Amino acid sequence: MPYSLGNDVIVTHGGIVSQVPRHPVAHSRPTSRNNMTSSNDVGSPTLDVDVVIIGFGPTGATAANLLGQRGIRTAVAERDVSIYPRQRAIASDEDAHRVWQGLGLFDDMLATMSTDVRVHFKHGDKTFLSMTSSQSHDQGVPGMCYYHQPELERVLRQGIERFPSVTVMPGYDAIDLVQDEQSVTVTLRPADGSPDRTITGRYVIACDGGSSSIRKLLGIALPGKHIEEPWFDIQLRAWYDLPVDAPLDFTFISDPHRPGVDCPCPMGYHRVEFRVNKGETVEQLQTEEGLRGLLAERGIDYDQVEIYRSWGYTFHIRQAEQWRKGRAFLAGDAAHIMPPFAGQGVSSGVRDVANLCWKLDAVLNAHASPSLLDTYEPERRPNVQQLTDFSLRIGKLVMLENPTAVRMRDSVIRAAMKLPTLGPLIKSNGLKPRYQLGTTGGFFGRTALRRSPRGSFIAQPWVTGSDLTPVRLDTVLDNKWTWVGFPSAPIPTPLAEAGVHEVKLEYSSAVAVHDVAAGHYVDSEGTLERQMHRSRARGFLVRPDKFIYASDREISSDDYARVAAVVEGLQLSGTA
Ligand SMILES: Cc1cc2nc3c(=O)[nH]c(=O)nc-3n(C[C@H](O)[C@H](O)[C@H](O)COP(=O)(O)OP(=O)(O)OC[C@H]3O[C@@H](n4cnc5c(N)ncnc54)[C@H](O)[C@@H]3O)c2cc1C
Repeated sequence: MPYSLGNDVIVTHGGIVSQVPRHPVAHSRPTSRNNMTSSNDVGSPTLDVDVVIIGFGPTGATAANLLGQRGIRTAVAERDVSIYPRQRAIASDEDAHRVWQGLGLFDDMLATMSTDVRVHFKHGDKTFLSMTSSQSHDQGVPGMCYYHQPELERVLRQGIERFPSVTVMPGYDAIDLVQDEQSVTVTLRPADGSPDRTITGRYVIACDGGSSSIRKLLGIALPGKHIEEPWFDIQLRAWYDLPVDAPLDFTFISDPHRPGVDCPCPMGYHRVEFRVNKGETVEQLQTEEGLRGLLAERGIDYDQVEIYRSWGYTFHIRQAEQWRKGRAFLAGDAAHIMPPFAGQGVSSGVRDVANLCWKLDAVLNAHASPSLLDTYEPERRPNVQQLTDFSLRIGKLVMLENPTAVRMRDSVIRAAMKLPTLGPLIKSNGLKPRYQLGTTGGFFGRTALRRSPRGSFIAQPWVTGSDLTPVRLDTVLDNKWTWVGFPSAPIPTPLAEAGVHEVKLEYSSAVAVHDVAAGHYVDSEGTLERQMHRSRARGFLVRPDKFIYASDREISSDDYARVAAVVEGLQLSGTA
């Protein structure tokens, strides 16, 4: 059962919050541009937009940026009046970073992120596994980066100020939702006690977290498991002083007597987590004596640190039965909750909305059939399942108790680390599942060859254009439907006529860099050549979310009209 401990302890189950102390309720609705932006007039009792986003956490804020970038009239309703001050997630990965790069926000985020983190698994004083997790695997941006979540959310919220089509409504609790064939109407209850108001959109994205009231209003079940074993989290101001670019050592304490996690974070924050052992209670651990004892287990002197939060939590592993009902979609924790061991909570929500938002754009602004939106869940769910399983595997590795199993774990992993192929793969976090979209039920080329690249992302190398300045590929792709091909695979005419953009690649071996024609780009490091070679391709049709629709070997005349319908009419101007 969930347990609650008074005002300062939140009780969470990997995202389902049973009791959250409310932030102070403002008497007048703030419009501070630091915390919340209100780009449009929100004063009228009803508001009509294309998309209503409920919830302004990392998922909702990313969605608002993606829709704003596309000029879509969007309103974001958020129950709280300011950014949630507690540190929850501490890391995100290259898939999310590439999305934020496409929004022009990643450089600002990097200013407060740590990209140099080594992850260790320790048992006693022995380290049986060490890896660097920030290595990129072809996405062209750093892998796992660590941060203070409120800082990340601040950058996301500031990003929205660039988009006049987005209205942000802080201090509005979504309490009801009704939909018909044309639209969805959401009732909002203002935190300042003024009368309820309604907002009507053609679509709704519920990004309202693990306890999603929208999911409940839609009658969508959230089946799964609750892991009863409680953990205890202490958040500290660090007792050391590190520059933001200093390397951090993140450690899983794989000790059968007390598994735990030690997470130094940028900006002087530090988190230590412990399993609550049998016979202990969160109440005991929260006393001065309990906290002193726990910190001493990690060699931290209670008198030398400032403890600003501590809480107990348990895990949920759950996925909503369906991620769409009519005109309403679930995204982020509202759709799926996974244990935190792989640090995939925030990144999963970002992947969701990156998949959904370009499709909404195609339906709202091009001629795409609304059935395109049905491809969201089948494309995304397999990846969520894979990462949930991956996270559970890490948790099991850390929490092994049987002494024989523990000895076997330590020696098998040590031996694996010495193997010529597996060792380097493990050390570079290469066992994390690569992001691949589900192709069954997805929007991809219809004929699939063996080794088809459909549903995988295009790598992001640096390429060099005619002005001789190396740029990241995504800057050239510009969030548009793009044909990326070498000279022997020019864009098929029907796609060019439909408005698909073309990036003409040159092999680095064939062209002197100073001799690049306008509109051509040299694949200087041979990255795209290698990626295409793996599927015997010379060209890819790439979707706005950087996923490959089909290669030149697979695309058929059947696909041309299908793609044209989702491209024609789009007016996207990218900010990559
Ligand atoms: C206490 C806690 C600890 C966590 N620790 C980790 C961790 O260590 N590692 C990790 O990867 N992940 C962790 N997570 C999960 C991670 O924080 C989430 O995966 C991530 O924040 C999901 O983002 P989201 O935007 O989908 O949901 P949230 O961040 O939960 O945001 C939902 C937003 O919706 C708003 N909202 C809710 N209901 C309404 C409504 N009716 N009307 C209007 N607004 C509403 C909320 O106020 C909130 O701002 C933790 C989560 C919690 C709650």
